[in-house]
Amino acid sequence: MIGTDDLPIRDELRGMSPYGAPQLDVPVRLNTNENPYPLPEELVARIAERVSEAARTLNRYPDRDAVILRTELARYLTRTTGHEVGPREVWAANGSNEILQQLLQAFGGPGRTAFGVEPSYSMHALIARGTGTGWISGPRREDFTIDTAGAVEMIAERRPHVVFICSPNNPTGTAVDAGTVLALYEAAQAARGGRGALVVIDEAYAEFSHRPSLLPLIEDRPLLVLSRTMSKAFGAAGLRLGYLAAHPAVVDAVQLVRLPYHLSAVTQATALAALEHTDTLLGYVGRLKDERDRIVAELTGMGYEVTPSDANFVQFGRFEGEGGARAVWQRLLDRGVLVRDNGVPGRLRVTTGTPAENDAFLAAMRELTPITA
Ligand code: PMP
Repeated sequence: MIGTDDLPIRDELRGMSPYGAPQLDVPVRLNTNENPYPLPEELVARIAERVSEAARTLNRYPDRDAVILRTELARYLTRTTGHEVGPREVWAANGSNEILQQLLQAFGGPGRTAFGVEPSYSMHALIARGTGTGWISGPRREDFTIDTAGAVEMIAERRPHVVFICSPNNPTGTAVDAGTVLALYEAAQAARGGRGALVVIDEAYAEFSHRPSLLPLIEDRPLLVLSRTMSKAFGAAGLRLGYLAAHPAVVDAVQLVRLPYHLSAVTQATALAALEHTDTLLGYVGRLKDERDRIVAELTGMGYEVTPSDANFVQFGRFEGEGGARAVWQRLLDRGVLVRDNGVPGRLRVTTGTPAENDAFLAAMRELTPITA
């Protein structure tokens, strides 16, 4: 039997396995940070309308520059952050994963390196690898906040071409303050000199945060990029729509590597329909934030160590007994609740679901408590 490793694939891909959370069919799925609320019926109807309209011209390629969609995304960002951006400062792609990939294709690549502070979103390192970019892992403190001084020192020493900052961070839920972002930004520019280094803030979970967006920091910082997605707050993970906000020169740069017509007319039409229903969707976000805070409070009450969360998920532990986090993950699964073991020692991550799903998770945790806490 021929396996992948027998093929003449790139050496750095040999022996690797693809990204993937288990997609198991269990009653309560709280493992992939999805929004538990299906889109409201009025929006489903509006999507059907807009997609029918788009279907009439599917014989043609879509708007390659997605100008109308970028205009609406810019309007959304301006409205929700108070910081004004226009379509020239916004770019859209198939999920923020594609945004990150385009950024690494344009600013990373063979002979270059990217830096991220782990544990963080594992795709940062994986997309780096996929684009031939070297990966440098920076330090966090015991409480999972970024060790700013340590990170600054490492950036000065290793001189990365791209720096990732994930805020709120997946899988810990930790938000990053503006001071840390600025310290890393300055360090990255000083280290590389010349044309500088690109700093990417991954704000996939921004709408769930207790803190304001870091978007205003892009002002006068042409190498600071903010990455966003409609997968979480807009409850549209199946849509595959991510976007960035940055200086127009960065938007021009990613156009050098994007595939022509990468964003289908169907995707653009669907995203535009969803943006028309922003207020309803942000209403769900409000409910999820309350539920997230309830999970934090209840787990803390049961005696668990809970990482403060600004995202739609919660990291909790510590599980140091026999089998550690993996054993608890399995016991929860036995009770029909799927959470995520991200490989952070002694910790698990639970996504905020509907109140009923969260009740089921919390009830299962209460059952386990004498064994694990
Ligand atoms: N960034 C972070 C921090 C994430 O957690 C995720 C999804 N899990 C993404 C980006 C990618 O999301 P998408 O491609 O669906 O926009």
